[in-house]
Amino acid sequence: LQTADVPAALEGTKPDLMSKFDGLIAERQALLDSGVTDPFAIVMEQVKSPTEAVIKGRDTILLGTYNYMGMTFDPDVIAAGHKALDQFGSGTNGSRMLNGTFRDHMEVEQALRDFYGVSGAIVFSTGYMANLGMISTLAGKGDYIILDADSHASIYDGCKQGVAEIVRFRHNSVEDLDKRLGRLPAEAGKLVVLEGVYSMLGDVAPLKEMVAVAKKHGAMVLSDEAHSMGFYGPNGRGVYEAQGCEGDVDFIVGTFSKSVGTVGGFCVSNHPKFEAIRLACRPYIFTASLPPSVVATAATSIRKLMTAHEKRERLWSNARAVHSGLKEMGFKLGTETAESAIIAVILTDQVQAVMMWQALLEAGLYVNMARPPATPAGTFLLRCSLCAEHTPEQVERILAMFKSAGQATGVIG
Ligand code: PMP
Repeated sequence: LQTADVPAALEGTKPDLMSKFDGLIAERQALLDSGVTDPFAIVMEQVKSPTEAVIKGRDTILLGTYNYMGMTFDPDVIAAGHKALDQFGSGTNGSRMLNGTFRDHMEVEQALRDFYGVSGAIVFSTGYMANLGMISTLAGKGDYIILDADSHASIYDGCKQGVAEIVRFRHNSVEDLDKRLGRLPAEAGKLVVLEGVYSMLGDVAPLKEMVAVAKKHGAMVLSDEAHSMGFYGPNGRGVYEAQGCEGDVDFIVGTFSKSVGTVGGFCVSNHPKFEAIRLACRPYIFTASLPPSVVATAATSIRKLMTAHEKRERLWSNARAVHSGLKEMGFKLGTETAESAIIAVILTDQVQAVMMWQALLEAGLYVNMARPPATPAGTFLLRCSLCAEHTPEQVERILAMFKSAGQATGVIG
């Protein structure tokens, strides 16, 4: 638009749609002016292994990735990606519904059916889109979505994308879920959306009790098992498997971006009409499918995760060691024990969180800095996520770095 196109009367009053970000821009500038590194602008200059990268020219231990099972450098996974890239090219140039379904999209869906022991699997371009698509497509006009207040943004956005009524219940409260379901019309369609592991504090849902309550009220259940795949339950299917409610969860949503070690999302289900989702789900239909190399690496990784018992053991032992080490030093943690591979170190405010984060980075340790609105109840935290490939020596170094950074910043005595 040329200035000449704007009527004279509107000159100077033309609303700038970008001005709504002024507060955010000022807050970020104030943070940078205090001389700290921007925690949201980190570049991995080199990635050496699932647990080591070069950041700002320095060798750094990674304790803030979702690479729980360390599959990103698995030689079989990498070889599968190379092969698919050579055989099928770099991309699909189309939707799954039209020209975008290649051999390895079929193969990865079969790997998911085998991994979860289910009849149906649908792959989306990301886990975010799997939640967006499944939630908005399953719950229609006049239906209800009942979700945990601390649900992931993709779950909230799935609710917004759809037309169902939304009801929130208090985080992990079986009682509140029961109460809110009890107030809804008995005949209405209901979808209860839960997560196995909540990604900010690393706490686990009482899925067994919640699923029983949902069933009592005639609701269907979707569980997002993004942060439990690979190491929860006898087959690594997730918290719902570990808590023995496999028969009662109707839909499982997951991602390739965490334990699987690539990118992509999915939903699996035993529902006999599950395939109909492909015909109706807009975030499945109106976007390009994943590149062949990505689905080939995912398929290989998922099959390897089925027997990765030793990795699971190492991941749990790393999580327990870091949790108990940090707790002994006096850090305030998100959970009493290591409930998952995520350990959240809770700080008092943004200044303390950034100081601590920066002290760790300068010592050679990367963790995630997390802040509202991603975090619950306005907390500032440093999120540590363990990897099966962290060595005992790295675990020792991680704890030592936390101790000196914690003392230098006054977070611990
Ligand atoms: N669900 C949960 C609980 C998540 O934490 C995330 C990502 N952090 C997603 C879904 C989205 O997964 P993806 O990265 O594949 O989009």
